[in-house]
Parts: sequence; C-alpha cells; structure tokens
Amino acid sequence: MKRLIAFVVGFLCVWVSVAEADSQEEARMRLVEETIAARGVTDSDVLDAMRRVQRHLFIPEDQVRHAYEDRPVPIGHGQTISQPYIVALMTEIVQPKPDFRVLEIGAGSGYQAAVLAELVDHVYTVEIVPPLADWAQERLKLAGYTNVTVRHADGYYGWEEHAPFDAIVVTAAAPHIPPPLLEQLREGGRMIIPVGSRFRTQQLVLVEKQDGAFKTRNVLPVRFVPFTRSDPDSGW
Ligand code: SAH
Repeated sequence: MKRLIAFVVGFLCVWVSVAEADSQEEARMRLVEETIAARGVTDSDVLDAMRRVQRHLFIPEDQVRHAYEDRPVPIGHGQTISQPYIVALMTEIVQPKPDFRVLEIGAGSGYQAAVLAELVDHVYTVEIVPPLADWAQERLKLAGYTNVTVRHADGYYGWEEHAPFDAIVVTAAAPHIPPPLLEQLREGGRMIIPVGSRFRTQQLVLVEKQDGAFKTRNVLPVRFVPFTRSDPDSGW
C-alpha cells in the first residue's frame, strides 16, 4: 500500500511539473510570436534563442507569474530584469555570431547573458551588486549554461583581460559611454548601450568601431535602471 501511495504521489508530482513547464512554454512561444516578432525582431536565430531561454528561471519566485509578460520585472536590490522585446532587439542589433566573445555590463538576473550564450562562443558579464552577481551565476548554472563567466565589479572598466570583444551589450543607462568599453571593442565590433540620465529620456545607442573611429546611431528611446559606480566620487 505504501508503495502504491509513493507511486501515485510521484506520478502526480511529475505530471504537475510537466504541466507547469508546458504552460510556461506556451506562454513563452506566444510572447515571441505575438510581441517580439510582431514588433519587428526578424533574426530567426535570435527568435529561436528567445524561444529556448526559460525566462522564469531568472526571476524570483514571488514574481514568476510575470515571467512571460513583455515588461521589466523586479529582481530585488532596486534592479529589474529587462523587457523581453528589448533583450531581443539589443541581441539582434549586435549581430551575434557563433565565434563571438561578448561582454555584457549589468548581469542582473543573468537572462540577457543566457540569450547571448545561446548564440555566441562565450559571454563575459559584469555586475556591480554582489548578491545579483551571485544570483546570475547560480541561475545560469541551473539553466545549464557553461559558456558564461560572471564577475562582480564596476563594469565601467570593462574586462580588460578578455578584450577585445566582438560585441558589447550594456544593460544600465550611463550618462556617457565609458571610454574603457570603447577601447575594448574590436575593430568592426558593435556595442549597444542606453545613454541618458535617470530622469531624462534615454536613448539606446549603437556604436560601431570602424578604422579606429566610432560611428553612433540612436536606435530607440528607452528606460533602463542607472549605471552606477563603485566610487561615489567618480563625478559620474
Ligand atoms: N541584463 C540584466 C538587466 C539587469 S538591470 C538582465 O537580463 O536581467 C541592470 C543591471 O546593471 C543591474 O543589475 C545593476 O546592478 C547593474 N549595474 C549598474 N551599474 C553597473 C556597473 N557600473 N557595473 C556593472 N553592473 C552595473
């Protein structure tokens, strides 16, 4: 009898978790078709990556019900996981290739890093809030990503040791583009960064490095959490 009960309970647990995973998957597919593709993201590799990455794994338990809504969601410490459409757009804009080494500034939940990790060789991601660096690291491991390295530091300085980068993705809004990031972008590389202050409209800016010079283009007005500095006297 005990065995039978254990079997039935076990069966129900598996059934509930499969049903749960299925409903999340359905919501994720709908988000990709009805919002992300519908709003103009066309790169099929990027759309496939958005279909594969389980955003709910990067969101704290009490917010998980919002995982497949197209909006930022709080992840604690005053920070947010970015809106899926913006994650897809920023990923598409840097034109990821399988041999790319990518730098992300602002690991946060780890979600954007996971989307990039589906498409490139290696992602280096920097996070200034220590518990979030830990969270991102843990979540990326749980989700099975072995090609992402997370570091706790002030991302203003980039990650010199692994430069130059084929692409740089910055997910916090900076008053200006940090010069070390420009330096660490390879020739022909692309950087996407929200520029502007906390209280004014920010612009998502695409930077392209060509013949040692930088070409910039405003892509879209956006709203990101601020790029903070470890040194409060940095004059930022
Ligand atoms: N890419 C994240 C978005 C997180 S929001 C995701 O997919 O979830 C932006 C993140 O940038 C926050 O976690 C914030 O703590 C971090 N951040 C802000 N200033 C930073 C800096 N100077 N260096 C590194 N990370 C920074």
